[in-house]
Amino acid sequence: MEKPVVALVGRPNVGKSTLFNRLAGERLAVVDSIPGTTRDRLHADSDWAGIDFIVVDTGGIDPIDVKIGEGRVPLSVGSADFIKEIRFQAKAAIKDADAIILVVDVESGVTPADHEVSEILRKNQKEIDGEWKPPVLLVINKCDSKARRDLAPEFFELGMGEIYPISALHGTGTGDMLDALIQSLKVDQPGSFVEEEIDESVKIAIVGKPNAGKSSLLNRLVGSERAIVSNIPGTTRDAIDQSFEYKDTPITLIDTAGIRRRGRVEPGVEKYSVIRAMRAIERADVALLVIDATTSITNQDAHIAGFILDAWKSTVVVVNKWDAIEKDSYTMDGYKKKIMNDLNFMDYVPILFVSAKTGQRTKDILPMAIKVQKERMVRLSTSAINKLLRKSQELHPTPSQAGRHLKILYGTQVRSDPPTFLIFVNEPKLMHFSYKRYLENRFREEYGFEGTPIRLVLKKRE
Ligand code: GDP
Ligand code: GDP
Repeated sequence: MEKPVVALVGRPNVGKSTLFNRLAGERLAVVDSIPGTTRDRLHADSDWAGIDFIVVDTGGIDPIDVKIGEGRVPLSVGSADFIKEIRFQAKAAIKDADAIILVVDVESGVTPADHEVSEILRKNQKEIDGEWKPPVLLVINKCDSKARRDLAPEFFELGMGEIYPISALHGTGTGDMLDALIQSLKVDQPGSFVEEEIDESVKIAIVGKPNAGKSSLLNRLVGSERAIVSNIPGTTRDAIDQSFEYKDTPITLIDTAGIRRRGRVEPGVEKYSVIRAMRAIERADVALLVIDATTSITNQDAHIAGFILDAWKSTVVVVNKWDAIEKDSYTMDGYKKKIMNDLNFMDYVPILFVSAKTGQRTKDILPMAIKVQKERMVRLSTSAINKLLRKSQELHPTPSQAGRHLKILYGTQVRSDPPTFLIFVNEPKLMHFSYKRYLENRFREEYGFEGTPIRLVLKKRE
């Protein structure tokens, strides 16, 4: 089942990222302990009462597409532009999220900006079966004490219904808020799980920033295939999936409606929003990350790439508009290096240089996606894994720390989709990031896994 997406909206400094970190809990800390991950995160998995959901901090979704490394300074309350920015956030959230948490600050009381955001949210909700969608929960943050909680009712004047006083800093009040959130999402409780139809097709999401050429590529991919089988309405909102066969392989393109509908740029609002892209990625096996060769690689590209990685999906990078680039024989290599560097966590992904306009190399896209999906489903025998682990240690002995030596005992593959290996060691802490990376590279040297993430899970055994 697709995980619901919950968006945090509010003006700067009300405590959105503090709440985000609290909801993301330990998981975030685990991810962030990986050296070299500098990308700011705006999404994380969370759960409450057994219900999984994705939380998105819209404060991190930037309407201005900034070149990587330029490090735009976040807008503050004093900035004249911040109201523009939260307008953008609110609109992005209301279009594509399943629920919204509107965060306000009890310290500052009701502000004109709070009024404005509430109004945007209210105006853009849709009434479906007698309920307003998506639901909005009004959360009054920084209620650290009783005195402050007593001030919270002031926010009823925003006309958003019930209020939820919390302290994101101390974690108080969040339980009631989460109970209400889960209720408003109306997802099936665990146990009432409906078995999904088994779908053997390769599920592909086409993602990338606005204007990268997603709709043009979609037309190329589908246009060349006359045997379109059916249009399958997606499970949530208005997503439409499109299925067809490519040389005997069933393919499902995820959320083609989301890509196509916004055929022209709406100024100020993203055509294909980050939230919508996240939802599509969540349902896919393989993501085609479309990059516009005529512009620099930006924070939006990095955010989407980061989400693909965090969701453990496979990737093909499609550099589009290659026709519009002045090239000499080094350009492709130079560009590859640049992508590797800017999206450095994705050094195992294949990169295709195409033109949706002229059709150059677009016929390579589906075969590559299918290949990457096959790699995703690979299963290695336990003996092959242990041979690889032994050989790896011969080539590059395991490290020691404070007189203790890392011992790799044995490994086994516990699942595919994506390939996941359990490796038993004497002490997981002794396995540094660099050695783990080395082992991952060894797996890739021997077995490929092109475009596919592999997970190495360490387990302690004496
Ligand atoms: P954002 O800009 O909305 O993401 O806000 P931040 O999460 O960065 O928080 C802004 C400031 O408010 C920081 O200094 C936080 O430590 C503080 N803050 C956040 N939540 C609380 C809270 O529940 N109580 C108090 N007293 N301060 C908080
Ligand atoms: P989307 O927002 O990612 O769906 O992008 P579109 O498919 O709507 O394309 C955005 C703009 O880029 C349009 O004006 C297209 O004509 C143009 N475009 C798309 N692909 C190419 C390409 O391969 N080469 C060139 N030169 N322009 C392209």
